[in-house]
Amino acid sequence: MRLLISGILFFCVFQVFSQEIQIGLFYGVKLNTATATVGHGTYVLKVDSLFQDTLTKGAEINFSSAGGESVATVSGKRYVGKEIHLIHLEDYDFFTLKGTSPVTKLHSYHGDLLFKVIKGKFQPINRVDMDQYLAGVIESEGGGGKHLEYYKVQALMSRSYAFKNLSRHKKEGYQLCDAVHCQAYHNRARHEFSIIDAVHATRGEVIVDDRGEIITTYFYANCGGQTSDASYVWNNDVSYCTPFLDTFCIHTRQAKWEKRIPRAKWEKFIRDEYGIDIVSRNLMNYAYQFKQDQRKAFYIHPSLGIPLRDLRSEFGLKSTFFDVTLEGEEVVLRGKGFGHGVGLCQEGAMQMAKNGYHYSQIALFYFTGVHLKRFGASDEDIR
Ligand SMILES: [Zn+2]
Ligand SMILES: [Zn+2]
Repeated sequence: MRLLISGILFFCVFQVFSQEIQIGLFYGVKLNTATATVGHGTYVLKVDSLFQDTLTKGAEINFSSAGGESVATVSGKRYVGKEIHLIHLEDYDFFTLKGTSPVTKLHSYHGDLLFKVIKGKFQPINRVDMDQYLAGVIESEGGGGKHLEYYKVQALMSRSYAFKNLSRHKKEGYQLCDAVHCQAYHNRARHEFSIIDAVHATRGEVIVDDRGEIITTYFYANCGGQTSDASYVWNNDVSYCTPFLDTFCIHTRQAKWEKRIPRAKWEKFIRDEYGIDIVSRNLMNYAYQFKQDQRKAFYIHPSLGIPLRDLRSEFGLKSTFFDVTLEGEEVVLRGKGFGHGVGLCQEGAMQMAKNGYHYSQIALFYFTGVHLKRFGASDEDIR
């Protein structure tokens, strides 16, 4: 009896920590056919409710669709069903998948592979352990060579995003897609073992606001020394993204930039878009001695209504945090930072990690008034 109870307990705990997530693969690609290959371990082929075959390393499965159903061909045998399911048996089993019409890159995933026809669309879905998914996201988005403590921050952010958006693709029959629309997930983590360690070390942890709700984990490359008010970027406030000074990023790669724009082009845009003629209105001094010691929302003066974010998008600028001067017939923009500046500054966070800060200190530095919470049997506030 005791054994049974401890078995059940183990099962419950295991359930909590082994949450699975369903990822729609090849988002944005209209897939007609694809080939999966068993890369490691043993997979069971299930067609609707029937187990049909056992496949080992090197086995190839060709997928297509016909008459609203999925078709799998394995060694000349053809299986047809509403749902074709390749089930993995061990944690580290993986398969590769490649679109054959249209031809795509080869991808590699842990977990199960499902093929379904959803609303007339032939859709591969990866049903995978949440931690294995997160490790794949961090490697897809960030590459290698970062500090372990920084990877832990990335794990918190990606996990927060995933838990907050589990219903994002509900209508399409899965939870998240594999593109930047959700979080880039091109492969299982293959190269950087410290990413897997970081995901495990933060298991279940997410960032929550003062009401206990998971936050939206905004991030960008470099704030240039001061983070931005969310309302400067999107017109609405975000309680946990308020501006503050960040000295961790000011000597890094993307800390400064310069761009030159022909004066006529600059003035034409201001005239055409906002009806303001800089020259005839005697605004030259204001326009060409424009400084931002602190981040501003508007160019020249707020009452003229020229949002810096509009200039950023029109002229492809790295940030809205720039000064403006005139040199001959060129407008010279000298700027700081790269990205919108709301939330976590990646280069600052990397520097903090190198300087020995704990991942929770980094998360709490960039998001104001938040704390970390672990999803589990009893949700606990941990920091
Ligand atoms: Zn998506
Ligand atoms: Zn910064």
